[in-house]
Amino acid sequence: MTEMKVSKISLSKTIADDVSVDSTIDSTQVHAGDSPAEIQADPTPSDTAEPQAVAEAQSDSEATQSQPDKPSSSRKRGRSRTAKAWSIDQFAVPELEGKVRFHDLDLPTELMRAIADLGFEYCSSIQAEVLPHTLDGYDAVGKAQTGTGKTAAFLLAAMNELLINPVEGERFLAEPRVVVLAPTRELVMQIGTDAVDLAKHTDLQVHTLVGGMDYGKQLQRIQRGYVDIVAATPGRLIDFITRGDISLAQVEVLVLDEADRMLDMGFIPQVRRIVRATPPREQRQTMLFSATFNYDVQVMIDSWMVDPVRIEIEPENIAADSVDQRVYMVSSQEKFTVLKNILASEAATSVIIFANRRDQTRRLYEKLRKAGVRCGMLSGEIAQQKRTRTLEQFKTGDIKVLVATDVAGRGIHIDGISHVVNYNLPDDPEDYVHRIGRTGRAGAKGISISLACEDDAFMLPDIEVLLGEKLVCERPPEQLSGS
Ligand code: AMP
Repeated sequence: MTEMKVSKISLSKTIADDVSVDSTIDSTQVHAGDSPAEIQADPTPSDTAEPQAVAEAQSDSEATQSQPDKPSSSRKRGRSRTAKAWSIDQFAVPELEGKVRFHDLDLPTELMRAIADLGFEYCSSIQAEVLPHTLDGYDAVGKAQTGTGKTAAFLLAAMNELLINPVEGERFLAEPRVVVLAPTRELVMQIGTDAVDLAKHTDLQVHTLVGGMDYGKQLQRIQRGYVDIVAATPGRLIDFITRGDISLAQVEVLVLDEADRMLDMGFIPQVRRIVRATPPREQRQTMLFSATFNYDVQVMIDSWMVDPVRIEIEPENIAADSVDQRVYMVSSQEKFTVLKNILASEAATSVIIFANRRDQTRRLYEKLRKAGVRCGMLSGEIAQQKRTRTLEQFKTGDIKVLVATDVAGRGIHIDGISHVVNYNLPDDPEDYVHRIGRTGRAGAKGISISLACEDDAFMLPDIEVLLGEKLVCERPPEQLSGS
């Protein structure tokens, strides 16, 4: 252990010293000739849909380091392969009043280089507030939604811990040091991609475990070498734990992202089992992020965390000034025509349309296709591989229109989305904020258009309460109304 920083983890935890031989996973035994029903039931027989960046990072690691069958006890890890070729002088960011620079946080050079590559200059509010505590090993609770930079906030703290306390003793396969739990596949994959971006100048190995993708392939990957960071949906991680394919006994950092959504989606029994599989709360760092707080989230905090610092990023900051929010009052018969006209407008270069339910999403998608609009659909009923492909096509601009449900659309972090259209107003005002936050990102301006008809206009007052502002409701301009 290094003495650079006194974190409670480095004081309380000695890695691998107490690992028994039983906990070693022998990749030649696990699943040899095994074809559990669950694997066969996987809808996607191939994992080619894994986020490319994650897959690339893995193949990159294979190219640069040999992977022994059994880890060597003398292997030192955690230092950069590339940091020497770069110095912090190449990343000059002037001090600015009221802003925290990443330079002010004493982060390892490898991470600073990745931050520079990503083009981040100053910490976002949540990063500025939470990192001084989490970098010292303290637990933290963040009330923050997507778009605030919370992913980098928890990843930087976790990676810092891994880098300043590299494993020096014996180490076993399939024993991650960091586990990030998130409710949806899209979000997990986004976290995986962000983690690979931040870890690109380190040797840290990032893996994503999500349902709907080939179990066997995910297993093979995590058995190829040491696993540092696992981002997972609760269900798939439980599968790995239940089959003895992963051990969480060495987890040093546990992150629960979108805790409220995990509750809403009924994942809490699984999350509880996962938390129990990690070391006691005093011996790990726990970070929890949630857009909303209720009794159940508070119970999670009380049960699983030690004196966490609490950071709150107000939703008003989230419904960013960078989003021009428009509400068009239309009849239900007019909606589709107005939508088609919006899509035909020159400014609509990249559009996400939200509908409330899967069946509405599908019907709208089919109707748009019939009307000659090239579009993709993201909803829970679409196989994961197809969803990943669709998202990729959308990212590259190959398709410019996506129709999505809230759950599938959550956690889509794509810069340059010009418009978000609410074909239906969401039942939950929080979802409105999430939806419009898909645009107006990374310094760009975005437009959100809500098509409010007789069936859903009653949702507006609740949305306005959450936003803390009145929305201007108007008839759509002439050019959007004509058929
Ligand atoms: P998140 O809230 O984690 O979904 O992040 C929202 C977006 O902000 C992502 O596209 C990040 O890459 C980006 N981001 C995170 N931190 C910063 C930062 N300090 N400066 C600029 N962009 C950032």
